[in-house]
Amino acid sequence: MQRNYRFRLYPTAAQELALTGMLGAFCDLYNAALHERIDCYRKTGRSLGYYDQASQLKAVRAVDDRLAGFSFSAQQQLLRRVDKSFRAFFARVKRGGKAGFPRFQTKRRFDSIEFRVGDGLTLKKDGRIGITGMAGTLKVKWHRMLPTSAKLGHAILSRNGGHWHVSFLVTLPDVPAPARELTPVGIDVGVSSLIALSSGRTEPTPQWAKEAAAGLRRHQRRLARRTKGSGRWKKARRDLARYSRRIANQRRDFMHKLTTGLVRQHTHFAVEDLNITGLSRGMLAKDVLNASWGLFFQMLRYKAECAGGAVEAVDPRGTSQACSACGSLVPKALSERRHDCPHCGYQADRDVNAAQNILLKSSFPGLGSSLRAQSTPDVRARLAREAVSLQGAE
Ligand SMILES: [Zn+2]
Repeated sequence: MQRNYRFRLYPTAAQELALTGMLGAFCDLYNAALHERIDCYRKTGRSLGYYDQASQLKAVRAVDDRLAGFSFSAQQQLLRRVDKSFRAFFARVKRGGKAGFPRFQTKRRFDSIEFRVGDGLTLKKDGRIGITGMAGTLKVKWHRMLPTSAKLGHAILSRNGGHWHVSFLVTLPDVPAPARELTPVGIDVGVSSLIALSSGRTEPTPQWAKEAAAGLRRHQRRLARRTKGSGRWKKARRDLARYSRRIANQRRDFMHKLTTGLVRQHTHFAVEDLNITGLSRGMLAKDVLNASWGLFFQMLRYKAECAGGAVEAVDPRGTSQACSACGSLVPKALSERRHDCPHCGYQADRDVNAAQNILLKSSFPGLGSSLRAQSTPDVRARLAREAVSLQGAE
């Protein structure tokens, strides 16, 4: 299994200049290699291969001080990239498709270099990254851990709209998921809390989401006040776009942490099917997060399945009004935070009750025992009654 781990780099102004210069030098080498291939083909009718070009690299570096300062293996890698684009070209010609000759690159668009980890790009003990040919070391934001079992072969340094990143393509051993005890749980995307679990746990809406909601409104107001098309309007629009991108990243990181935590504690998840009701909960901090519930369920499904579990989406209609203990309808307004059943006396957080109903709607096996273990005497009583009526029906 291969996974890509991308981390943001924070070069100083001087380092950014050095990295930009390095991209420029590599871009020149790329174009020179491309040019040589075309030239050779024109003059001799023979195609140059990777080894023809790689064997010249030493001689080229001997006379080009700029190239000589940078990583040798990364330049070999670049020549492989040229080779690859040629092979792809010839393969297209052979298939008779639209061929698309390999293109010369412009410095503006040439924005990545592949390194061998430990050669042109090294991980330092202090968590920074060293690049051959660049003074000092780069600050990295390690927002998640690289798996300890990972073998780091190659790393790609890239520039993307003024941001710099390093990506590691990590090969992970295919380990069959260990057999785990089935631990199903229901999740309600809550009204007052962020999510509520049928186990009774609720997750509060994070502070940053509230701040982000306020920040977004501030940026939007500023944009609306300015004359459309003016210089100040363009600046406000750019600021809003940058702010939105930051929030989107924050959201993504947050959802990763949340789903990872959930998959550590449970194997099977019953969630509401967003296609049925959608989310129309007008709380402002929630608006920031609402955009990512689809992502949340997708991450949850992927992580749960990786761990040998599953996610089931159920029709959420009625789950907030029904009593999870006796099944009676207990109508409540949005402002009512508690579920207080007048029929059986079951009391719970409103969203926890909904999450329990969501779990009850799922088809997970062994549900009874797990609900029994995690819930109140009232739910246990209901499950017992259901068991009796099921037996009666047979
Ligand atoms: Zn009840």
